[in-house]
Amino acid sequence: MSPRAEWQRGEVYVDGQWRTPRSAMTGVVENPATEQVIGTTAEAGTDDVDDAVRAARGAFGSWAGIPVQERVDVLRAWHGVLAEHHALLVDTTVAEVGAPMTVATEAHIGMGLAVLEAYLDEGPRLAWEEQVRNSVVLREPIGVAACITPWNWPLYQVLAKIGGALVAGCTVVLKPAELTPLSAYLLIDAAAEAGLPAGVLNLVPGKGSVVGEAMAAHSDVDVVSFTGSTGVGGRVSAVAAATIKRVCLELGGKSSSVVLHDADLADAVRGSIDGAMLNSGQTCSAWSRLLVPRKQYAEAVDLAGQYVSAMQVGDPTAPGTDLGPVISEAQRSTVIGHMTRAIEEGARVVCGGIERPLDRGYFVAPTVLADVPEGAAILREEVFGPVVTIEAYTDEDDAARRANATPYGLHGAVWSGDEDRAFAFARRLRTGQVDINGAAFNPAAPFGGYGRSGNGREMGRWGIEDFLETKSVQR
Ligand code: NAP
Repeated sequence: MSPRAEWQRGEVYVDGQWRTPRSAMTGVVENPATEQVIGTTAEAGTDDVDDAVRAARGAFGSWAGIPVQERVDVLRAWHGVLAEHHALLVDTTVAEVGAPMTVATEAHIGMGLAVLEAYLDEGPRLAWEEQVRNSVVLREPIGVAACITPWNWPLYQVLAKIGGALVAGCTVVLKPAELTPLSAYLLIDAAAEAGLPAGVLNLVPGKGSVVGEAMAAHSDVDVVSFTGSTGVGGRVSAVAAATIKRVCLELGGKSSSVVLHDADLADAVRGSIDGAMLNSGQTCSAWSRLLVPRKQYAEAVDLAGQYVSAMQVGDPTAPGTDLGPVISEAQRSTVIGHMTRAIEEGARVVCGGIERPLDRGYFVAPTVLADVPEGAAILREEVFGPVVTIEAYTDEDDAARRANATPYGLHGAVWSGDEDRAFAFARRLRTGQVDINGAAFNPAAPFGGYGRSGNGREMGRWGIEDFLETKSVQR
């Protein structure tokens, strides 16, 4: 895919204007499938953050002051412009993430727009005023929201965060990931075209250690909402602590897919692997552990090996490609490091492995690891690549114990011929989401983690509430 004019940027967006960052610095964006530079981005500095926060503060009173339905109307126009530019958004995601066309179309852009739409539907239905005995309880926007997002689902993660903030009535300063800023630029173009008032949404691309920290530390920011790794989430909390601002964290995961004895094994294995490999495994909720009953272990390993061996890895623009590259050489080497350690600890490579499947691009072969010893690091640590481990469990107690034996608590899956049995098991998982028998993603249901997977909730009314204050008025 050749570079496009829309990807040559380098500006920040502050108070309704595109302008050169005060830092005067720019960076480049690479296509991870080709290793070629395809675009330019701004590298904002702390002065740019100050400007953006000032603009957001200036716009807050009027944006917060209009009725929610009017905000939703403006944001619906924005959704409409984004939908018109669907093809450009897909091409951009394919180019900056390396996601296959179908994944970019349906998951990155299709689900991203569905998440925004769910916010627009839920906003007016929220209980903005509630009578409690002699009090009226009011929900009010918290103020200026600093939003920091990762590279794995660039447009989707931004919409999942700022969609809730904007419907709530907050004004936003957005810092997308340095590796994937291009779709954020397009998102701002669409907001400007839709008539979002100046200062309501500001964009300061740049380094997390500079721009992200300045946003988290800023004394005039009321909430920092961060999606990314657990390590950086801890740093963001520490930096934000001095100003007592609210900190909403959406962090890493290590999720299990548990196949109960009465499930259709072939269906469950295929569904679990699809969940693990989506986006080359670079998904916070990826079911990177597959747990099966001991009696069905050998068959499950065979099924998984056959299924994954047939997956097509390569050019994301080619029809039939199942998996593109991982995002960068650094990410590739992190994934290979996890695999190497697992193999040293006794894991058996059923298919895939540490060799490069292609000469060019940051590709990792989709890999199934079996016979992983219970104490192995790979069963607790997030790999964030196309790697699935399979474990045998003895009974449901053992399955629940194993699935919960990680510091994280983001997601999980249960497969069973009996939905009530699956539901009972879902209750035992200490995670913010559980899917039964591959049930559809719900963009209006809360998404977030237990434990080290974070403390916030995005999507639907919960994703709006993260940006609201609560006031009681007695009379
Ligand atoms: P990351 O390294 O933690 O970065 C996330 C964002 O934080 C980027 O924009 C990054 O900027 C910025 N950042 C880096 N250092 C910072 C600092 N000191 N202060 C403030 N911001 C800073 O995560 P990632 O590698 O991009 O994304 C992968 C991680 O995100 C995985 O752990 C995944 O599980 C998690 N994730 C969680 C969810 C969820 O909903 N729970 C969803 C998606 C992803 P730069 O990289 O641009 O410098």
